[in-house]
Amino acid sequence: MTEASAEPVADVGVIGGSGLYELLPDVVEHVVDTPYGPPSDPVMVGAVPGGRRVAFVPRHGRDHRFPPHRIPYRANLWALRSLGVRQVLAPCAVGSLRPEFGAGTFVLPDQLVDRTSGRVQTYYDQGAVHVSFADPYCPVGRERVAGVAAAAGTDVVDGGTMVVVEGPRFSTRAESRWFAAQGWSVVNMTGHPEAVLARELGLCYTPIALVTDLDAGIEVGAGVNQDEVFAVFAANTERMRTLLLSAAAALPAEPSCGCAESYQEAGVTLP
Ligand SMILES: [Zn+2]
Repeated sequence: MTEASAEPVADVGVIGGSGLYELLPDVVEHVVDTPYGPPSDPVMVGAVPGGRRVAFVPRHGRDHRFPPHRIPYRANLWALRSLGVRQVLAPCAVGSLRPEFGAGTFVLPDQLVDRTSGRVQTYYDQGAVHVSFADPYCPVGRERVAGVAAAAGTDVVDGGTMVVVEGPRFSTRAESRWFAAQGWSVVNMTGHPEAVLARELGLCYTPIALVTDLDAGIEVGAGVNQDEVFAVFAANTERMRTLLLSAAAALPAEPSCGCAESYQEAGVTLP
C-alpha cells in the first residue's frame, strides 16, 4: 500500500484517453502501487509552462491494453492522489448525439448518466458512505478550461450530459436515438466510474470530451467504427494536448469548489 506522499509530487492529474499516451516531453516516471493494484501505466510527472507539476497516466495504458471495462479505475485515481494530485483533467473520446456537434468538437459536460454495469464504482465496501454526486464534475475546472479555450480561440461546448455505456461494443441505432431523445449530448465508455471515484477521494474532476464520430442513431450510413474513432482522435491530439497544458496551468492553486467538502461530509476517510 502506498501512503500519500508527505511532499506532493504533482498538483494536477491528467488521465489520457484514446490516442493520448504522452503529454509532456521531460518527465519523471513514478512506478506507483496501490491497494487496488498498479495503475494503467507508471505515472509520468512533468512541469507545464508556469511551473505547475502535472501527473499523467494513460487511461488505457500506453499500448492501449486495457479496454474500457477492464481499466483499473480505482488504482489510477488512487495513484494520482497518492502523488499529491487534488485536481484531475480527464480527456476522453465521445460519440456525438447531436448532429451539430461534429467530429473534432470539444464538449465540457456538466452532467453524467451511468449506463454501465458490473463495474466496481466505490472504494467503500463497508459502512454508510454516500458522497454527493448531484453535480458530478468540478464547476471551477470546467470554467477554467472554458476560459483558456476561449482565450485561445478554441470553440468548446460548455455543458451537456455525457451518458456512459458499458461497451466495449458501440451503441445500437435504437439506443443512440433513445439517448439523443433524452436530450443527452455525448456518449462514452470510460466516464464512469472514473468521476465518482474521483469524488470519493475528494478530487476535482473535469472531463474534456472530444467528439470522434456521430453516434449510430444520428449518423446516416454504416454507423461508427473503431478506425474512425482512432483516426479522429489522432488528428486532434495536438489540439487536445495544447488545451490540456494551458488548462493545467490555469487551474486554481486552492480550489474554491465543494468537490473535497462533499466527501468529507459523507464521512469518507481514505482507506
Ligand atoms: Zn472542484
